[in-house]
Amino acid sequence: MRKTEETLRIGCHLSSARGYLAMGKEAERIGATTFQFFTRNPRGGSAKKIDPEDVREFLAFSAERGIGRMLAHAPYTLNACSGTERVREFARETMADDLERMEYTPGLCYNFHPGSHVGQGVEAGVEAIAAVLNAVMREDQSTTVLLETMAGKGSEIGGRFEELRAILDRVILTDRMGVCLDTCHVWDAGYDIAGNLDGVLEEFDRVIGLKRLRAVHLNDSQNPLGAAKDRHARIGEGKIGAGALARVVCHPLLRDLPFYLETPNDLDGYAREIAMMREAWEKTKP
Ligand code: FE
Ligand code: FE
Ligand code: ZN
Repeated sequence: MRKTEETLRIGCHLSSARGYLAMGKEAERIGATTFQFFTRNPRGGSAKKIDPEDVREFLAFSAERGIGRMLAHAPYTLNACSGTERVREFARETMADDLERMEYTPGLCYNFHPGSHVGQGVEAGVEAIAAVLNAVMREDQSTTVLLETMAGKGSEIGGRFEELRAILDRVILTDRMGVCLDTCHVWDAGYDIAGNLDGVLEEFDRVIGLKRLRAVHLNDSQNPLGAAKDRHARIGEGKIGAGALARVVCHPLLRDLPFYLETPNDLDGYAREIAMMREAWEKTKP
């Protein structure tokens, strides 16, 4: 694990519509020390051209204000394991383009939803996802590509840790890959992070390896354990609960990871959740 953080690395999902520097300033305004952003329109489509001047200003600003370890999120409509070649090709083209663009901000993580196999079966889905990754990842990229743990709704791949492990095993540049754990998703998939966090982390370590865990999406869930639904709730307004989510943030094996809120909130709401989690984190500082 990297060096111990002096302050909690936490932020939320921000809109990238006004560019990088605007996100950095927004993050600072709500007390965030990191943030997540979509690489392009979340429903896919062409990406806005990157303005190198905006990136340069942003990098200077964020370094000065202690904002770092940002997480890029691929459009959630990509499906690298669709049964349709045209859909897989779109995922391939989009991810290749995203990875190229991400070299403007070197060393970040790029998170994506593995996809839905829509009836072909898990094994075929896993193969298709690995094929896309093997087509788009490059030896010289500085970006780490993250698979997100999913709720397992419908034919979604990634609801079981074993499925993510199977993908990681088939990627050639697997040392350039990691996992992003979404608390709402794993809960909905049946991993009891509220009642048995240590047990879930043990299982994650056994199946995937904790060194692969690079980011946490911090969300409460509207639905009970194992519901396989994927409906995010604000911290403390869902079935996981504020106490359990604070224990995630403060856990010795997790507390140095970056946390990203994807709760249904406005910026003031995010600021409150960040402050709430920071207070818990500071209190449990070793
Ligand atoms: Fe996601
Ligand atoms: Fe998520
Ligand atoms: Zn979700």
